[in-house]
Amino acid sequence: MLNLEADAPESDADQGIEPIHHYTTVTEWGSFATAHCCCGWHGPARRARDRARLDASEHADADTT
Ligand SMILES: [Zn+2]
Repeated sequence: MLNLEADAPESDADQGIEPIHHYTTVTEWGSFATAHCCCGWHGPARRARDRARLDASEHADADTT
């Protein structure tokens, strides 16, 4: 029996102790790039993809306690 925890719960209610992992991605919109995070955050549209990546890493760093 193979029971991997593939189904991550999308709606996490009150998991105060659980550390939040910020999984960020950069989506390109035409000539713009925007950083998105699995927590619902998204950065401003950047004309440089590296800039959007920087936004993403800054966001992930800022929220780690
Ligand atoms: Zn996040």
